Amino acid sequence: MPDHAHEPLDDREVLAACRVHSDTALADHDPRATFGWDKDAAKDRFRIVADEVSELQKRLFAADERALLMVLQGIDAGGKGGTIRSVMNRLNPAGVSVHGFGVPSDEERAHDFLWRIHDHAPERGKIAVFDRSHYEDVLVVRVKDLVPEPVWRKRYEHIRNFEELLDDEGTTVVKFFLDVSKEKQRERLQDRIDDPDERWKFRKGDLDDRVMWDDYQAAFQEALRETSTDAAPWYVVPGDRKWVRNLVVALALRHHLEQIGPEYPPAEEDIDGLVVE
Ligand code: ADP
Repeated sequence: MPDHAHEPLDDREVLAACRVHSDTALADHDPRATFGWDKDAAKDRFRIVADEVSELQKRLFAADERALLMVLQGIDAGGKGGTIRSVMNRLNPAGVSVHGFGVPSDEERAHDFLWRIHDHAPERGKIAVFDRSHYEDVLVVRVKDLVPEPVWRKRYEHIRNFEELLDDEGTTVVKFFLDVSKEKQRERLQDRIDDPDERWKFRKGDLDDRVMWDDYQAAFQEALRETSTDAAPWYVVPGDRKWVRNLVVALALRHHLEQIGPEYPPAEEDIDGLVVE
């Protein structure tokens, strides 16, 4: 018998362990956590859970009542792209959109920070994924001192209100912070430099951000604490092991889609026994 400390946590316990609260400390989250899972079994489970997410997506689409927005944040080489590929792979592409938010254009910068965001929120029946998001405006903007502190600090409240609006009006918001260790980021960035097929992903600026590691961690921690609400919860996802990361994200998506509880709309009347000639 495995001793209790090594018994796998059940799905609810895993999600509870990852969920961010107002006193969450990132230092208490282990990027290498496995929750007692075995790698091969976790990969098998991931496929099953991803198929369940896919079935729920079909219902979400058919019901056409609510939408789901998945926000992904993390450091460079944190696995945002890989998460999107793995977790969205089994979904019907017609019902999914992915949008990456880079350095704002002049036009975007001429508006408030949420202006460019709202337009990409999903329509009813759809799932939208944000690869980076409005959170950059309290993360990179803070660390690089791009706007004065009173301005970015006020944004926590703007973000809470914005996400509550989305939820009230039909969009469930679920947010993931991909938590990768400094050593794992070093490995992945080095791989990008060394592998000719990966090199296109590498920017020298990634190294400048890495130097400010502690500042970013502090900014993430505060942003997560300030904006993890019932309407739009954050999850800290252990990011060093891809198979753990993928399963945690799939479990959370399944949970929130189940909360929505989409059902196929009723069929038209009098079609029982109808034969197509
Ligand atoms: P990625 O690094 O995610 O592959 P990009 O190469 O497009 O994608 O880089 C996105 C860059 O844009 C990141 O360095 C990020 O910090 C920056 N960025 C995103 N949003 C903002 C913002 N609101 N203000 C300043 N910089 C931003």
